[in-house]
Amino acid sequence: MLFITASRRNRLRNQPFPPAWERILEQEVPLYNSLPLTDREELKGHILVFLAEKQFEGAGGLVITDGIRVKIAAQACLLLLHRETDYYPGLSSIVVYPDEYLAPFEELDETGVVTSGTDRRSGESGEQGTLVLSWADIQMAGVDGDGAYNVVLHEFAHQLDAEDGITDETPFFPRRAVRKHWQRTLEAEYVRMKEEVGRGTVSVLDPYGAESPAEFFAVATEAFFENPRGLKEHHLALYEELSRYYRQDPATWPATISIGGTS
Ligand SMILES: [Zn+2]
Repeated sequence: MLFITASRRNRLRNQPFPPAWERILEQEVPLYNSLPLTDREELKGHILVFLAEKQFEGAGGLVITDGIRVKIAAQACLLLLHRETDYYPGLSSIVVYPDEYLAPFEELDETGVVTSGTDRRSGESGEQGTLVLSWADIQMAGVDGDGAYNVVLHEFAHQLDAEDGITDETPFFPRRAVRKHWQRTLEAEYVRMKEEVGRGTVSVLDPYGAESPAEFFAVATEAFFENPRGLKEHHLALYEELSRYYRQDPATWPATISIGGTS
């Protein structure tokens, strides 16, 4: 069974990449243009597998187009470069809303009181194999200068976290010493972030990362790819750990050129 999956994926990766999709990458995915050429080829192979295996569903009246599928797949697969991957095995479908959407929530406070209602969301990495995204928010990535907002990277980082047990202390790295170092660095940086957010200090990291270790990892992933030089300058240890984890060094890539307009 595993062999069949591996050979099917191999076949998919080696199919010609549609020129129309290549144009979407060049015109709509700023990070793609920063990638080293060999990484672009690897990424395109991953996109072919990802799009063959994942279902996309439009919600709130949104019609799914190749532009939407390719843009999401490219950024999701950027996190998978240079490693053995099972292509987010826990994920089967991606639901895309035109904009922020309302979702029900239930919260339990320290006194045991449950509050419920609805809140506005730009994305969520849900259970039961579904990931939800707002298309308006996806389009905000890479257009805010030094900002690091990228909802696709954020939600797929949650997928990797759940898969690899990064922030729940499940062993991930095979060598204990490496794993310990990684956890110590992430914990120290998380504590630092909570202190900085408490003091109101402006950081290259989105203050939302102070919510929990899982949000911190997702926010740090956004900054690692969207503002790598800023992250490296202000959080060198964190940058180096993420560079080891993602097996990439985006601070050496040419600066992302903002891409205007659509075609
Ligand atoms: Zn999150």
